Amino acid sequence: MFIAGLISSACAAHRPAPVPASDVAPPVDSPTALAALWDAEHVSPPLPPLVRHADVVAWLGQLRQQSPDLFALEQIGQSVEGRSINHVTFGHGPFHVLLWSQMHGDEPSATCALVDIFAFVRAHRGEPQVRRILDALTVHVVPMLNPDGAERFQRRNAQGIDVNRDALLLQTPEGRALKALRDRLNAPLGFNLHNQNWRTGAGTTGEPASISLLAVAFDPARSVNRGRLRAKKVCAVIRDALEPLAKGRIAKYDDEFEVRAFGDNITKWGTSVVLIETGGSPGEHPDAAGVRLNFVALVTSLEALATGAVERADPRRYDSLPMNTDSNVFYRLIRHASIVAGTGVAPFGGDVGLVVSRAVQTVNGDRQLRVTTRVDDVGDLRVLGALETIEADGLTLAPLFDPALQAGDEVRLPDWTAWTGNTIATGQPGDLVLLRPTTAGRFRVERVLRAEIAADAPSRR
Ligand SMILES: [Zn+2]
Repeated sequence: MFIAGLISSACAAHRPAPVPASDVAPPVDSPTALAALWDAEHVSPPLPPLVRHADVVAWLGQLRQQSPDLFALEQIGQSVEGRSINHVTFGHGPFHVLLWSQMHGDEPSATCALVDIFAFVRAHRGEPQVRRILDALTVHVVPMLNPDGAERFQRRNAQGIDVNRDALLLQTPEGRALKALRDRLNAPLGFNLHNQNWRTGAGTTGEPASISLLAVAFDPARSVNRGRLRAKKVCAVIRDALEPLAKGRIAKYDDEFEVRAFGDNITKWGTSVVLIETGGSPGEHPDAAGVRLNFVALVTSLEALATGAVERADPRRYDSLPMNTDSNVFYRLIRHASIVAGTGVAPFGGDVGLVVSRAVQTVNGDRQLRVTTRVDDVGDLRVLGALETIEADGLTLAPLFDPALQAGDEVRLPDWTAWTGNTIATGQPGDLVLLRPTTAGRFRVERVLRAEIAADAPSRR
């Protein structure tokens, strides 16, 4: 077992005893154990948006150097600006699987998960689970298909084309490289790995869609053939693997056929595609959470394909997922506040929803992730959810009228009729202060919310 030594003995006591019969596949490690393994062993950096093509090239070079017998590397093309598009192969089994990530340059979670999978395969190659994957599968990986977009942290390539709408015209070198590789391999199964807007909800519960799955359609009628049924079963396996880690936060992506998209056409050309979209996760480290979910989803899928467990999966576990719901989730939602808008209008009761923007900037040669919030909506927002909900019953919410304020400070409010700073209105920066009324006209600062959020890295365990 590759997790041996990484889990506590208390956990080990609950693990099923090994199954000795050779015709029964040993149990796949639990998703929780795989997540713990990722916590302990992942090599990808904490902020995927900062990963550059040069990093990927360096990691692949290390693989080649450290384990030339395990990984085959080839360049399958180059981007508009001349960056290499790389194809990594591991395993020697009869069933071929093709995975590609970051077709959209600002969607980096899966690239990090794939790098972690390479490290995992290398570190545990002698152990049964990985050996089974290597013996049953040949895994083809294109990490970071759109390196020029990644360099700019933008969706499109350097031509300004959305590569995922270029499957038919093939005007992008990135799209041509993917198409040529698909045609050469003709693998029966593919994984198309993306990120989606953090505002996407899992159904209408207000929970974010941290992972959304799609067994991609190959025709407008959304027919199900043998390949698409297998893709649905893989999605069912992923749902069951991730539910203990992201309960209520797994959804289904709309399966409408998009005539220009790669997933749809690759499925039509004969490689049935599973789309994985990584969305927002609650907690302080949403980036790391997304990479971790991808790692568990992909390793579990490879194991289930290798053992044949996929064929026994119930596609209804995919069909019954809640649908993705657009713009259903805020980054922050402050509920039941007494709102002092800063415009001079009298205080009123309601909710304030904030959304987040993320951009990569280079400051003095240092690449940084800039995370900022702004007000998106004010009023009765009870039907919407958030990555973070702040209950503000009994509290006053006002614009942050003094940037030096700290929790515990005793303050009076300014004269809002003379106020020229930010207000609480759609589009305004998310610089806010939560105040508890004390004695007449005075307040104590409960919490300061700043528009600029530190994109700090999670501490390594
Ligand atoms: Zn995308």
